[in-house]
Amino acid sequence: MRIVIIGGVAGGASAAARARRVCSEAEIVILEKGPVISFANCGLPYHLGGEISKREKLLVASPELFWKRFRIGVKTLHEVLEIDRTNKRVTGIDHQSGTAFEMPYDRLILSMGSEPITPDSFQPMPSNAFHLWTLSDMDRIIAYVDAYPTKSAVVLGGGFVGLEVVEQLHRRGIQVSLVERNPQVLKPLDWELAKMIQQHMETIGVRVLLEQKIQRVVTQTDRAQSIEFDDGTSLSADMFIVAAGIRPRTKLAQAAKLAIGMTQGVLVNDWMQTSDPSIYAVGDVAEVVHGVTGQRMRVPLAGPANRAGRIAGEHAASGSAPRMGKVWGTAIVRVFDLTAACTGCNETSLKASGIPFRSVIIQAASHASYYPGAEPMQLKLLYRPEDGKILGAQAVGADGVDKRIDIIATMLHMGGTVGQLAELDLAYAPPFGSAKDPVHMAAFAACNDLKSLPNLLPPNSSLENLQVVDVRTARERDNLPLPNAIAIEIDDLPQNWTTLDPHKETVVVCHSGKRAHIGACWLNGKGFQRVSNLSGGMSVRSLFTEP
Ligand code: FAD
Repeated sequence: MRIVIIGGVAGGASAAARARRVCSEAEIVILEKGPVISFANCGLPYHLGGEISKREKLLVASPELFWKRFRIGVKTLHEVLEIDRTNKRVTGIDHQSGTAFEMPYDRLILSMGSEPITPDSFQPMPSNAFHLWTLSDMDRIIAYVDAYPTKSAVVLGGGFVGLEVVEQLHRRGIQVSLVERNPQVLKPLDWELAKMIQQHMETIGVRVLLEQKIQRVVTQTDRAQSIEFDDGTSLSADMFIVAAGIRPRTKLAQAAKLAIGMTQGVLVNDWMQTSDPSIYAVGDVAEVVHGVTGQRMRVPLAGPANRAGRIAGEHAASGSAPRMGKVWGTAIVRVFDLTAACTGCNETSLKASGIPFRSVIIQAASHASYYPGAEPMQLKLLYRPEDGKILGAQAVGADGVDKRIDIIATMLHMGGTVGQLAELDLAYAPPFGSAKDPVHMAAFAACNDLKSLPNLLPPNSSLENLQVVDVRTARERDNLPLPNAIAIEIDDLPQNWTTLDPHKETVVVCHSGKRAHIGACWLNGKGFQRVSNLSGGMSVRSLFTEP
């Protein structure tokens, strides 16, 4: 049996290695159009900025190793141009010799990944505009920066790759501006958490322009000088990085008349088989099932690509394999001193899917606050109102964000509720966490919310017509004023609560929601019928209200 794999990086290389492990007899061949296989695309930004100093570190496995260790044949510079399903063979071009090739298959695995989108305004790409998608893209950017004095750069697109590039160009001493057409960076996050990342970049010195649509690129000879926006403003730079989205490389699959899903990825079953059972599709080209919405969608990330590759490789080689698990879109990015991470759905995707939800946002320390080095973290949890089933989470902080999002991703995978999250028995010593970990704190707050102990009010709610009780200190109130609030510091509440009207609908506000919870519980206990806590407190509300 011959298994042919198109594309030799994340999904393709995993498929090949797994196929060999479960079947030592099959002939396995990887056809890769690029000059290398198994390179670390996720590491490209970090070599660009010099954090990964040696380029060869990005070359994870060589064709020689694949042959020596696994007896997997690798043909680089072999681009597949057509799949002939009737005769079960692929044809293409060998870019080294310039000759055509053809190869029969018994099983075919598609792992061609995706390609960056070039907006019309950047077509053709000026000589000082680049994508960062392949090793050669990275080499070209580095060669350009080394050859020409590059003082300023514009990065188009505030997604994961865009932000990594912003950070790494800044690291090289380049003044970076980020242009994003949406009202926020990092779309998988909710607005307020994205805003924290945006503000952090601005503090570092990155200029962030949101909701900007490019009207045209002003070029001289073949160099881009500046970009002009719809609103008449413009931005000039020495270099432009286009990170404005990707599309799956499905042309071959479409031409072969394989079924394509609603989100333009190749439609597959639980073993990654396409509508032709002898052809599999994995990674960025394929759709997966989202764990929360149950909808098929593309999740172009390395983890799902590797897992799907493994399943397809095993199934192609042996005829059986575990099913592909659901995918939650768990993702993480470091942006200078902060990390942002998410799993499951955010508010936007829940609303789009018509899934009712409630949410809580808490601030907690990354480890015991008395132990040196504790950093604040914002953690948002989204859950189902009727039973507290977890629907998603996002976190932003300087330390420990990865651990918390991975815990919640695990809970999501197991179908857990906020009640079960609150029960988790986690490792604790002061340098690592707190006896009540941030995930516990978020879960406690969510459980309280579900029991109305007290209710949580979303951070950007209108406070008009409410009795607003501000339990912060005078200094906190000066720093972030809250107009029309009754100021009673939390420790004075037990004496002074009688000055409040128990019949009025009341909201208690503090900096992060923690003291307000205590205050709201106190008032509840004193017979205030309708009292709530402003979720996230003023630290989050101010993100919405600042100009
Ligand atoms: P790829 O790994 O892209 O491999 C596709 C291969 O197919 C390519 O080598 C291509 O040359 C080859 N190919 C395409 N067409 C043909 C053809 N016709 N014939 C032969 N060969 C062909 N994901 C994360 O989860 N975390 C990260 O931190 C992260 N960072 C990233 C940073 C960058 C700069 C980039 C570019 C991606 C990053 N990703 C990250 C995304 C992740 O790398 C991809 O989701 C993953 O590599 C997809 O795997 P794949 O096998 O589908 O495609």
